[in-house]
Amino acid sequence: MTQTWIDLRSDTVTQPTEAMRQAMLLAPTGDDVYDEDPTVNRLQAELAAMFGMEAGLFCPSGTMTNQIAIKLHTQPQDEVICHWEAHIHKYEAGGIAFNSQVSVKLLPGEFGKITAQQVAEHINPDNIHYPATTLVGVENTANRGGGSCYSLAEIEAIAAVCREKNLKYHLDGARIFNALIANHEQARNYGQVFDTISVCLSKGLGCPIGSVLLGNAADIHKAKRIRKVLGGAMRQAGMLAAAGLFALENHIDRLAEDHRRAQALAQALQTLPWVKTVFPCPTNIVIFHLHDAEQTQALLAYLKQQGILASAIDKAAVRLVTHLDFDDAQLQTTLYTLQQFSHQPVSIG
Ligand SMILES: *Cc1c(COP(=O)(O)O)cnc(C)c1O
Repeated sequence: MTQTWIDLRSDTVTQPTEAMRQAMLLAPTGDDVYDEDPTVNRLQAELAAMFGMEAGLFCPSGTMTNQIAIKLHTQPQDEVICHWEAHIHKYEAGGIAFNSQVSVKLLPGEFGKITAQQVAEHINPDNIHYPATTLVGVENTANRGGGSCYSLAEIEAIAAVCREKNLKYHLDGARIFNALIANHEQARNYGQVFDTISVCLSKGLGCPIGSVLLGNAADIHKAKRIRKVLGGAMRQAGMLAAAGLFALENHIDRLAEDHRRAQALAQALQTLPWVKTVFPCPTNIVIFHLHDAEQTQALLAYLKQQGILASAIDKAAVRLVTHLDFDDAQLQTTLYTLQQFSHQPVSIG
């Protein structure tokens, strides 16, 4: 018998539900390299319409949609402004340099967020010594910020700077629906603000594979050639896109449940003596720090022994992510298990 883990390492670990599998099985398909997959075309059009954008491009991963956007908006030798812990910089294997030959201006900022003022202050002057600043990237929600959200007002303030200074503006919206649900905001408002938006289907939405890049028709046309050179043009991808369409129908509103369970974990952690701090938890990512970095691995090993998987994201920081396959019974087990972990002081002498 295989063990069923309570897997809180990421929201990417979900299994497609029976109903999602049925939708995938029955999807009409065609060769998407010829633009002939009706299901892919429908997914791209529906998502673009939701965000008030002209077009979409279905890709295998969020790394690819982000990397395509960066390539689209920059020339070699340019510079991209983003948070120092942004996924596009930290977790995409150096793709900014490898694919686009551009450098980064990394900004600090609480909970993974940057401000319009910071952006304005870090645009390079027109001087031959400096790379040309051409793109700003923000992440909503911000993974390393504990699933923190920008408000639409904060997003728009940065957009105003970008417009004034003629910079492109990309949203890494791997978890954009978590932000929209938490803020009670409409996707439609985002389309007018950004040049491109990357949306992941394989995170909170619970699909097995896929991300969509949204933008205007001309940009998405160019993006298609970049996807091709990266090896991301797929054939009968409708079976995967069908999962995305199913998720747009069925898995958006339920994100509120993931947020409620994450909040319950965050609140319980706050009361435990071995926990030093818990990040504010507006969405589905719980990040907490231990008093004693030495105990981080002990905690992970203890949890694993109890059937719970979590990940360390720093020497003394642990991340728990709630998702479609984490229910209230598992929440109760996790709360109980966390409460039973007793911090063993390191013996001195
Ligand atoms: C997961 C994630 C991505 C994309 O990751 P893939 O695994 O390549 O799909 C991009 N940005 C953020 C913030 C993410 O969490």
